[in-house]
Amino acid sequence: MKEIIPQIFLKEDLAALQVNKIPEVVEMVNHILDQGIEEEASDIHFEPKKKNVIVRFRKDGDLFTYKEVEHRLYIKLLSRIKVLSKMNIADFRNCQDGKMEYISERNNQAYKVDVRISIIPTIFGEKMVMRLLDQQKKYLQLHKLGFTPTQLKMINDFVNFQNGMLLCVGPTGSGKTSTLYSILQQFDHQQLNITSIEDPIEYQIENINQCQINEKTNVNFHKTIKYVLRQDPDVIMIGEIRDEETAKLAVRATITGHRVLSTLHTKNAISTVVRLIDMGVQPYYLNSALNGIIGQRLLKKNCPFCSIKVIPTEEEMELLGGECPGNIMIGQGCKVCNQKGTTTRVLVAEVLLFDDRVKDLIRRKTDRKTIRKELGIIHKYNLVEQGKSLLFSGIIPFSEYRKLLFTDEF
Ligand SMILES: [Zn+2]
Repeated sequence: MKEIIPQIFLKEDLAALQVNKIPEVVEMVNHILDQGIEEEASDIHFEPKKKNVIVRFRKDGDLFTYKEVEHRLYIKLLSRIKVLSKMNIADFRNCQDGKMEYISERNNQAYKVDVRISIIPTIFGEKMVMRLLDQQKKYLQLHKLGFTPTQLKMINDFVNFQNGMLLCVGPTGSGKTSTLYSILQQFDHQQLNITSIEDPIEYQIENINQCQINEKTNVNFHKTIKYVLRQDPDVIMIGEIRDEETAKLAVRATITGHRVLSTLHTKNAISTVVRLIDMGVQPYYLNSALNGIIGQRLLKKNCPFCSIKVIPTEEEMELLGGECPGNIMIGQGCKVCNQKGTTTRVLVAEVLLFDDRVKDLIRRKTDRKTIRKELGIIHKYNLVEQGKSLLFSGIIPFSEYRKLLFTDEF
């Protein structure tokens, strides 16, 4: 991989650009976007500081500094982006958002990327974040995401049910949407009416009716679900359950005979059950609607070129319950991994099926604490356990495993 060195746009560079009669700003915008796409960044941040504007890329979940740009150039850059994404160019004081399409070049071929832009005013200027939604990046096939064979079977069983809801949960950046898109691929597109309600639409999928939420024009999740239900749907994907009303509508859609897929921003499967009850979904409806919950995370893998075996500290041993049946490794940092010690990410997942034991527990309407405790006994192969096996086989460092702990609360 290419080494990224933070740099400042030099006057000489700009002079060179002018010599070539290339408008400097157009070139600068293209250059940053091309680099972001090349690096497979998910977001590009522009953060005005006192002296300069810092440009950072988010890659594999982490931000790193890419460049510094002078304020006078950033203002021009910002204006160009505002024009391209149809924002108000004269407004510097309000939050704004917009979108645009950008065509880059990869291997001598045009490469289309949808860009979502958000601007907020800060003390040293307008902070801008560009989210890069890569249209060419094919959603992965379900069996290549990293689920265990047992988990894959559970997910495929859901696809074959006539109705029911499957939720995919985890924090932002845990790969929930990719999982849902991959599951959607499993349905028979020829025979079924599949509709998704999303915000934003991250990938365009053939044979699926994709609806874009637009809060500005009052096209929100719950309103759209009501309309979609009148269109004879078989499978409905709801991008995210954000509020009580959407939760209740999703449950209603399920018990009236549809298959519903959605995501929820909770830490794990057990927390999701408690959250849904907190959202006002009656335990009876929860039992009738839910087929299962997938909890997931993407954790960083140790770099295979610089990892060494380490002995766990006393504190770490305690967190492992006093047992360490395997090799714990840690990346030292090398040229291959840009001195980070870690490389790509690996999926850690749990699938909680709503079988009779789980349904019986929810039916008893016990308090949150008891639900958590008893579900913990039923649901043994949870995120922590899956993470442990990755830790003991040297795939992830302890710092990544630690992220799975203390997840009892939201
Ligand atoms: Zn390395």
